[in-house]
Amino acid sequence: MAKTAAVLVGGGRVDFREVEPPEPGDGELVVRCRANAICGSDRGAFAGGAEVVQGHEAAGEVIAAGAGTSTAVGTRGVVYLMVFCGECRSCRAGATNVCLAKQGDMGFNRAGGLGPYEVVDERVFFAVDERVPFATATALLDLMGTSGHALDRALLLRPGIEDLYVAGVGPVGLGVLLMAKLRFGADFPVYVSDPSPWRLDFAAGLGAMPVQPEDLPLVDAAVDASGRSEARQAAVRKLGRRGVLVCVGHGQGLELEVSPDLVANEAGVIGSEYFPYADLATNHEILLANLDEVSRVITHTFDLSETQAAFEAFLGGETGKVVVTQDA
Ligand SMILES: [Zn+2]
Ligand SMILES: [Zn+2]
Repeated sequence: MAKTAAVLVGGGRVDFREVEPPEPGDGELVVRCRANAICGSDRGAFAGGAEVVQGHEAAGEVIAAGAGTSTAVGTRGVVYLMVFCGECRSCRAGATNVCLAKQGDMGFNRAGGLGPYEVVDERVFFAVDERVPFATATALLDLMGTSGHALDRALLLRPGIEDLYVAGVGPVGLGVLLMAKLRFGADFPVYVSDPSPWRLDFAAGLGAMPVQPEDLPLVDAAVDASGRSEARQAAVRKLGRRGVLVCVGHGQGLELEVSPDLVANEAGVIGSEYFPYADLATNHEILLANLDEVSRVITHTFDLSETQAAFEAFLGGETGKVVVTQDA
């Protein structure tokens, strides 16, 4: 039976339309979406509109399975953003997030989690334990996945980091803070900066130490989650010897003076794009062991009929993760 989708029509407006349940093709699953977290990268479609139903941080339940699949109807899970090929050199190395033959992006150019149904290639579906509520399951995507991968990128250049600076504690920066605490321990020092006093207070509540960038001590690792040149520039100057700056998320440029910034310190600057599919399994274990802690970062949930209010709250900047939910 037809169900409602929230459609971003541009100009900061949300409209609704009815969608019939689709049929799965070979190797595909139909997921009945039950929760979708809003992301900074939805801003463009909210302002400019989108042809396709958006929402790339979705959790739901399989309601139909096509030929050649092995996932049972009724399985709960989340949908990985990138429809990776599974066969290219990147995919074979596990780096599905930089697939060389990506077939689409769920919730950007294929119908996503602000609608009732997603038709997903089985390989981008990840089953989640029944103890995890749908809204909380969305945390496996950008909140834990993208953020956890940023930490992995830092560890690649600098194993054994002993402190961390996070520039910008919007949803991605909050995720980096959360994952650093969950992976490295509650006492692991995480400094944060952000122009918003609300966000600094919220991050402090999760165990961060708010600082002005100029007052920051030299750190082993920094993650820029602001996308701003100024913040990236400040962070690179606060790296200690062998320090590493991870730029997660797209954004503005960074000017490096190679000799003092990189060579003398043996410092590194590295990018981080989404996360490899296999990280979902690792992060699922972390989520199961820390359900309450992760849930704290989801500060607002709205029914699909209130998607307009959900976006306005999110863009108002005084939220953690904002999740839109749908009844079955
Ligand atoms: Zn996202
Ligand atoms: Zn590939």
